[in-house]
Amino acid sequence: MRVDRVEALVIGGGVTGTGIARDLAMRGFDTMLVEAGDFSAGATGANHGMLHSGARYAVNDPISARECAGESAVLRRIARYCIEDTGGLFIATRQDDPTYLDRFLPACASAGVTAREIGVKEARELEPNLAQDIQAAVEVPDASIDPFFLTLGNVSSARRHGAVVFNHCPLQTLRRKNGAFEAIVGLGEERRTIRSEIIINAGGAWADQITSMVGAHIPLCVDKGSMVVLNGRLVNRLVNRLRPPSDGDILVPHRTGTILGTTSSPGVPKDIRATANEVRYLLNEAMVIVPTIVESRAVRAYAGVRPLLGTGSSGREASRAFQVIDHAADDIDGMISVVGGKLTTFRLMAEKAADLASIKLGRKGSCRTAVEEIVPYDSEASSDLTEEAARLRHGGAWKDVLSERSEPAWAGQGCGCEAVSRTEMAYFAASPDVRDIGDLMRRTRAGMGYCQASLCAVAMISTLGQGVGELQAYYGERWKGTEPVLFGEQLRQEAFKAHLLKVYGIDPSREAGQ
Ligand SMILES: Cc1cc2nc3c(=O)[nH]c(=O)nc-3n(C[C@H](O)[C@H](O)[C@H](O)COP(=O)(O)OP(=O)(O)OC[C@H]3O[C@@H](n4cnc5c(N)ncnc54)[C@H](O)[C@@H]3O)c2cc1C
Repeated sequence: MRVDRVEALVIGGGVTGTGIARDLAMRGFDTMLVEAGDFSAGATGANHGMLHSGARYAVNDPISARECAGESAVLRRIARYCIEDTGGLFIATRQDDPTYLDRFLPACASAGVTAREIGVKEARELEPNLAQDIQAAVEVPDASIDPFFLTLGNVSSARRHGAVVFNHCPLQTLRRKNGAFEAIVGLGEERRTIRSEIIINAGGAWADQITSMVGAHIPLCVDKGSMVVLNGRLVNRLVNRLRPPSDGDILVPHRTGTILGTTSSPGVPKDIRATANEVRYLLNEAMVIVPTIVESRAVRAYAGVRPLLGTGSSGREASRAFQVIDHAADDIDGMISVVGGKLTTFRLMAEKAADLASIKLGRKGSCRTAVEEIVPYDSEASSDLTEEAARLRHGGAWKDVLSERSEPAWAGQGCGCEAVSRTEMAYFAASPDVRDIGDLMRRTRAGMGYCQASLCAVAMISTLGQGVGELQAYYGERWKGTEPVLFGEQLRQEAFKAHLLKVYGIDPSREAGQ
């Protein structure tokens, strides 16, 4: 069996793990990262995509609020390509405690969050879809961020600085041997041994499963949150309820849709999915702020799991602050776990973890992640993208790296809902990281729009050179998010899709194993 030797092995390719790999590689450490699924397979690919200003946590969780305030400013500098600076509003309705505002404004000020109360009339001018009877409005610098492209940017950056990064490469066993660690990972059919001086566990909700391989334990509770995607943008800014964080109180304008979130209930990091009841609940709650939701089309629902440090507090009360755990205290020197936190604070989490790793590796490397911009993709390789596709999905950063090479003659539209060209599909399909349609979707957004891949999955499968079996597997997996929204226009859409796919013998409602 092939044996690789590295200084640091990072487990988990969410935003935290890829951020750590980027940081360590930039400090000059010989770094490898392994991710069991695709990058963003965990909570990173299943959240609201909200770049928190910190306002949401200002009253109840000031540490997290301050971290978000600082880090959202940093991310606006280093990851501008995947951030849409929408701004945010906190809105009080008749149902909300009017005295909350008196605590909210000073709490924002002390957490370093710029919050400005505006008139109700001004708020309705900014957001014409808001309810007529809103009682108060506060403007804050929240923004929308694309977690998939952020994480892929970390991967590119880590690789550019020398890290070896694998997706679809689960850690299978881990043990200590002669003062170092020996990890067995699966890379396709191959099994590889990796000897590493230190292990950094960024396994999110699975972090305790990873530490338990070497006999340590992290007291985590896992909390499930569900979200609904509506077609089109119903709000221009992020809209939050002006009340303590609770269920169904966020609307995020995100790319071609609006994300409604979220719920909080005890969960397990396995077969995570939203339910039809949760969808109904979220729609009803959001209608209090934006009544026009009643006319909108729910295209998909999904759920993610938060690993909350088990303080005994339930999901909403538990802090969103993070912890870097040195398992030397468990007699496993060289193992570090990073848990909790937010997507917004991932860079800071990575910095603190890499600081501890540097001490353990006996070399001081200084952190440059807050100043060096993330350039999402390799400029040479990206040259086949059309400028239009680049601008739509990847922002100014893509424009900067487009070369004068022209689009191939066969290029055309690949996904109509999300305006993904065949050229863009072909570019990503050629990447060794892309194994299936799901991987291609996460890199292009093809299939994420309102028709939910009724047509473009066929284009994707032909671009990948795969067959009907892979197509069935893709639709079966997507069904988890389709089933809870089978009403209204989306029910008609799904019936149409099922009819179209009959010609291939595909049943989009058949999940794997059925
Ligand atoms: C419902 C919900 C909404 C949220 N909304 C927001 C928001 O709007 N804004 C915000 O800032 N934050 C938000 N968050 C928090 C944010 O999503 C998380 O803080 C962040 O994504 C955590 O990233 P991570 O990399 O630590 O974990 P994850 O993304 O969960 O990554 C862990 C990775 O480890 C991998 N893994 C597990 N076991 C193994 C193994 N044996 N071998 C290899 N890999 C393994 C998993 O496949 C996974 O990809 C939300 C969270 C939830 C649940």
